[in-house]
Amino acid sequence: MFGFKKWRRKRLLNKPFPEDWLPILKTNVPYYKHLPGDLQKKLQGLTQIFIAEKQFEGCAGLELTNEIRVSIAAQASILLLGIDDLSYFYEDLRSVLVYPQKYVAKVKQRNNGFFVEEGFEQRHGEAWSHGYVILAWDEVQKGASDIHDGENLVFHEFAHQLDYEYGATEQIEHRATDSHFLSWARIVGDEYQKFLTSIQQNQQTLIDHYGATNLAEFFAVITELFFERPIDLKKKHPQLYQQLSKFYQQDPASYSKP
Ligand SMILES: [Zn+2]
Repeated sequence: MFGFKKWRRKRLLNKPFPEDWLPILKTNVPYYKHLPGDLQKKLQGLTQIFIAEKQFEGCAGLELTNEIRVSIAAQASILLLGIDDLSYFYEDLRSVLVYPQKYVAKVKQRNNGFFVEEGFEQRHGEAWSHGYVILAWDEVQKGASDIHDGENLVFHEFAHQLDYEYGATEQIEHRATDSHFLSWARIVGDEYQKFLTSIQQNQQTLIDHYGATNLAEFFAVITELFFERPIDLKKKHPQLYQQLSKFYQQDPASYSKP
C-alpha cells in the first residue's frame, strides 16, 4: 500500500495542472509567482496531491469552491516544497474546515488551575492534534495577499500540523539528545529563551510577540517569518534561519529576485 500511495502521488505531481486552477494560483497565491520556475512546477503538483487526498468542509454556510481549495492547498504545500520523498504528505491530516470569517469556538479554559470552564473565543484558525485544521477564509485571503509582511494564517496553522506530526517542538522541550535533533533542540531552544528575555526587557523584536505564548506558537510564528521575511530572519537570526532551512529543506532567502 505504501508503494501505491507514493506511485499515485508521483503521478499527480507530474500531471498537467488544471487550466482553470492556474489563474487562482496566480491571483490568490502571489507567493507562487515569487518562486523559481522549477518550484512553481512542483507547487502545481503538490497542490494537486493535496486536493486529491485531503478533505475540505465548508462551515457556517460557506460553500466550497475551487478558489478556496486551490488557495489553501497551494499555501499549505509551500511548506512541503523541499520534500523529495513523497511518502510524507501531512499524513495525519484528515480534513480542512473552512469558515467564512473569524469563527466562535467553544473552548475549555483552566482558571487558576482549579477548575475547567467552557467559554467562547474568537478564532482565526487553529490546528487540532487529531487531524483537523480550521481556517477562516477571509483571514486566509488576507494572509496570502502580502507575501512580505511575515503573517500568513495557512503557513501558521500548517506549521502546527507539521509540529504535531513530527514532534518538532517536543524535541526542544525535552532537549533531545538524539543526534538527529541535537542542534535543532539546542539552537531553537536557545533562540526561544533569548526571545523571551528580549520581550521581558521591552526590546523590539522581529519575531511577533505572540510567539512568546509557548514553543509551539514560537515555531508557527518563525515559520511565517521564514517564508515571508527570510532575508530579515537570516540577517537577525542566522542560526535559527539555518535550522528552519534544514527542517523545511528550503532556502526561501534565495527565492527573492534582485
Ligand atoms: Zn498558533
